[in-house]
This record gives sequence, C-alpha cells and structure tokens, in this order.
Amino acid sequence: MTTSLLQDFQPIAAIATTSIGANQLQPLLQTRSATLWVPASLTGIAGAQVYTGSLSDHLQTLWISHRSFVFCLATGAVVRLIAPLLQHKATDPAVVVVDESGQFVISLCGGHQAGADQLTRILAATMEATPVLTGATNRAHLLGIDVLGVPFGWVKGEGNWTAVSAAIARGEAVQVKQTAGSDLWCQGLPPEHPLIWGEEQLGKAQVWIGAKRPIADSQTPLVQWHPRVLWVGVGCERGTPKIVIEQAVQTVFQQQDLVEAAIAGFATIDLKADEVGLIELCQERNLPLRCFSAADLRTVTVPTPSLIVAAEVGTPSVAEAAAILASQSSFQIRHTPSPHPALQVAKQIVRVEGQPGAVTIAVAEATQEYTGRSGRLWLVGTGPGQLDQMTAAAKAAISQADVVIGYSLYVDLIAALLRPGQIIETLPITQERQRAERAIALAQWGLSVAVVSSGDCGIYGMAGLVMEQLQALGWDGKTPSVQVFPGITALQAAASRVGTPLMHDFCAISLSDLLTPWDMIEKRLTAAAQADFVVALYNPKSQTRTEQIAIAQRIFQQYRDATTPVAIVRAAYRLDEQIILTTLAEFLHHPIDMLTTVLIGNQSTRTYANWMITPRGYLGFDRQESLD
Ligand code: SAH
Repeated sequence: MTTSLLQDFQPIAAIATTSIGANQLQPLLQTRSATLWVPASLTGIAGAQVYTGSLSDHLQTLWISHRSFVFCLATGAVVRLIAPLLQHKATDPAVVVVDESGQFVISLCGGHQAGADQLTRILAATMEATPVLTGATNRAHLLGIDVLGVPFGWVKGEGNWTAVSAAIARGEAVQVKQTAGSDLWCQGLPPEHPLIWGEEQLGKAQVWIGAKRPIADSQTPLVQWHPRVLWVGVGCERGTPKIVIEQAVQTVFQQQDLVEAAIAGFATIDLKADEVGLIELCQERNLPLRCFSAADLRTVTVPTPSLIVAAEVGTPSVAEAAAILASQSSFQIRHTPSPHPALQVAKQIVRVEGQPGAVTIAVAEATQEYTGRSGRLWLVGTGPGQLDQMTAAAKAAISQADVVIGYSLYVDLIAALLRPGQIIETLPITQERQRAERAIALAQWGLSVAVVSSGDCGIYGMAGLVMEQLQALGWDGKTPSVQVFPGITALQAAASRVGTPLMHDFCAISLSDLLTPWDMIEKRLTAAAQADFVVALYNPKSQTRTEQIAIAQRIFQQYRDATTPVAIVRAAYRLDEQIILTTLAEFLHHPIDMLTTVLIGNQSTRTYANWMITPRGYLGFDRQESLD
C-alpha cells in the first residue's frame, strides 16, 4: 500500500483484538499510515500499540483525535462500540470494518462526508477484497451531492442535505443554479442523473453553487456549495485589531449578500505582510494572505484610486488592486480563456465604534476557485490488459484519484475500477503532450490526478512526458507531489506467455522513429545484436511504418543463427491475444502490428514443446550458481 493514497484519511486508528485480525491490518501498519491498537492480552504483535482496560473506554479517547477507524472485528461488535460515540455525519469519523479472513472491507459509517466509502475502496483494492458499500448512491451510481465540491475545495454551506439527497435518490428533478466555480464536476455525473439547469423554478429541490446568498423559497429544499472565489483586498491603519477587520468583512459581505465561506483568501500590500490583526485572521480561518508590491499594485486599473494613498505607500490603490491581482493568480485550467476577474465590491472604508483603526475592504471574484488543496500526480501503469495483471497499489490509486486521464482504450480497460463522481478525461493517442499538460494543470490547481498508461507508465509511457514537462515548468520536485505506480510492461507480459525468454541479459528497443532518429535506433539494434542480448522490440510496425522491422531482422541475421527463436505476441492478456513462436529467418511472414511485441532470443535460446527457453548461463548445467 502506498502512504500518499491514505493521506486524506489520516490520522487512522486500526483496531484488532486477535492476532489474525492484527495480521489483516498489517498493510496499514507497514506504510506507517495508521496506529494499530491491540489489547494488552495480545502479545508479540510487531509494531502494535497496546491498550489496557476496555476497548470502549479506549475508543472514547481515540474518537475525537482520529479521522478514520479501521476495525478487524465483527460488525455487530463495532456497531455497539461506536453507537454511544456517534453524533452527526458531518463530524463523525470514517468507520470501516475488515473481516478476519480478509474477504470483505465494509464501509460502516461516514460513507460520504468522512470518506469511509473511499477508504473502503482503497483498502479493498490493496487487500484484493470485496468492498461492501451500501449507500444508495453507490448502488444506483447516483451523484453524491454532499461530496460534490470536495475535490475543488468548495465549502459546504447551509441547507437541508437530507431532503435534497433523498430527492436525488428518488430520481426527482433537482435544479442546479451555479454562479461561481468550475463546471468540471458535471463531467463526473452518472449518465442518468436527475439534475436540471435553468432559471425557472422547476425542480423539487435545489442545489446552489455560488458565492452569493440564495434567494430562498422556503417550500423547496435547498443546499449550498460555496466555491472559494472571493479575494478580499484589505488596507488598514497600522495596528488595526483582528476583530475590526473581521467586522468590516462581515458588514461588507452582509450588505452585498455575499457568503464568507466563499472567501478564497486575503490580499494586501507587502508593507502589511506583518500586520498582526490580518495575520491572525488568516491563521484562524486557515486562509492564505497574498501580498503584492506597490510597483505591482500600481499597474492595476481600479475604480477608486486615491492620491493620498499614492503619496503614502506608492500606489493609488491597495485594497482594490490587491483583490484584483490575487484573483488573477490562480492556475488557468479552462479550455477557453476566461474573462478578466471582476471587482465585486469597490472599496468600502469601515470603522468600528469604540475600536481603534480603520479598514478598507474590496472584493474581487476570481474566475477559478482556490482549492486550498495541494495536488498530486499519480503516474499509473495499468499492466498489459486484464485487471488481474495490475498491482493492487495501481488499482487503489485509480479508484482514489479525483481525475483519471488516459488514452480511451486503456481507460475502457480499467472501467470497472472507476467510481461515480470521478472526472474522466480521454484524449486521442496522438495528443500525449496535451494530456501531460492537462494533468499537470489540474494537479497544480489542487486535484489528485491519475495519469494512466498501459504496461508500465515509465516505459515508453506517459510518466516520462509528465516528468519532462514538469521540469520544463521549473517544478520544485514537491508540488504537485508525484508518485509513480509501476505496471507489468509488454516485454514481461509477452515473455510470460511463451515461457522464460528473458532469463539472461535483455534489452528493449522501440522501433518508432517518431521521437528517436532512425540512425540511433539502428545503432542500438546493432549493439544489442552484437552483444547477444535477448531483445524485445516495442512499436515494431505500423500501417505506414513497415521498413524498420525488416532492417532489424537483417541486423540480427548478421550475428545470430537463422533458427534463433522469435516470439510474436500480440495483445497479451487481452481478449484478442495471439501468440506465434517462430524463427529469426521466418518471423516476417507472420502478421505484426502496433499491438505486438517481438521477442528475439539470444544465441542460447531454444524452443521446447512450444515454449521459449533462454538458459540462465552460458556454461551448461554443471556450473550452475544460485538462480535467485
Ligand atoms: N508503456 C507500455 C509500452 C507502450 S509502447 C508498456 O510498458 O508495455 C506501445 C508498444 O508496447 C506496442 O506497440 C507494443 O509493442 C507493446 N505492447 C503494449 N501492450 C502490449 C500487449 N498487451 N501485448 C503485446 N505488446 C504490447
């Protein structure tokens, strides 16, 4: 299991009362993703923490400080244990149960908001167990309205979530009014969703997505999501207390019908970077403070410039200009250029009676929300074809990602791993570079993005392109974070279908001269042939590129016998798999295309009863060393 996949669920408490149970939970422990608790009576469990007294007392002490619980206990026992501790689904932790035989992972409580369904999917993928998800949205592949905005850092607002979720589960028309934030979530909608868009009052329930307070009609249940699009520009006298800035924001937001949950952050001039009240406010609300120099602020055209301010700090506007600049600096992820950010509220000067200081507030609305999340790029190899040839970690990464990007054929092959609400982006095979750029832009914005390639992602796959592109962008190596998930590459898959052709030194050569000059390819073919490497030829032949494989054959014939075994493996581990065992002299008489890997044996490779065998050594069987 890979630690970064579980980051969103930490701290995790794992609890077992038997040694078999503790064993089942080992994967969590090995990656140091969780603390494993066992009773004092259970001795000798490596890495486990011991609790004394009753489990229910112990649980009470862990409950508040942990985001997730994974029990290896009977569900009945878990239900009784957690019953007195449960309060509300908005605040309760995720509770997941694993059975002692490791066959099932059950999302028991906190499926949506606490992420128990998601944690269940990851654990099940890792343990190769069946995930048990009983929420209505899982069964019907419905939309989880209460988790919709999570990937984009939207803040959940007020509303009757139970009523609106119930309306969706019943399939009743639910009206969406979105005035701010990304519409990317629409791409994750299941095919038959009950949502309708439009101004008139049509739906039985409503979903508001925006930064303004809704005009409520009390008859219709309504829920609100607030994308963080509002940047609050602040200018203030030195030493203005936090409470004054806070009240000024409150006053202005109320006047303008804006919702404070939609605040992305605060912005000001760099002279104010140490303004205590402002810093305290940002820290308390966990919001960023963006500071700009007078020189940068001067470049912005604002509605209310002031000569007095210009004389004092060197720019005619602090609040308005800073709000506008802050709202521009998000990453651009839309396909079409978006309009310039608008100043929602021109500067307002607010004083609070009985308090020192004065505050100037202006609010600009960004076209793209601030997610407040740090993005992750998972470069995932999906193996040659069937799902059972993919690593458990790769499966877990795919099911966890907010976005999955890949060539449509490979995305189809992994369709069973995708979950409702996930954003799937497929691009034609020719647009690899665009795919890499898109993945990086989405990760820079804060999403977890899985980029999938068949085989191994880092062998003639997308991972390399993404890394090159990151480097070109001046990436610091950390943000967005990158993790590569290896997969079974074509040469291993092909070899496994014909025996053990790769038992001695081998190499891979791609015959595609799209990105590599043909001279270089020819040089490598010659060197490999001379050095007696077993060779796997990737991209051997396309409809238009037919010459290269014939040249490769001629090169190998100079150094190897005509009878050298050659395997032609097409679509290994897929439904249309074809395998041909032939020889160096004969192999061009058989069909070869872009779904084929050609394996050429070395001087010692032989065929035996339709298997291809490369001996481990060149010295015969009497001098055999350890084979591992
Ligand atoms: N990243 C992939 C390779 C991509 S290059 C990997 O690691 O396997 C594409 C080439 O890989 C194809 O032209 C073919 O030569 C080979 N290939 C990919 N999948 C294959 C499969 N299932 N069977 C045989 N060859 C395959």
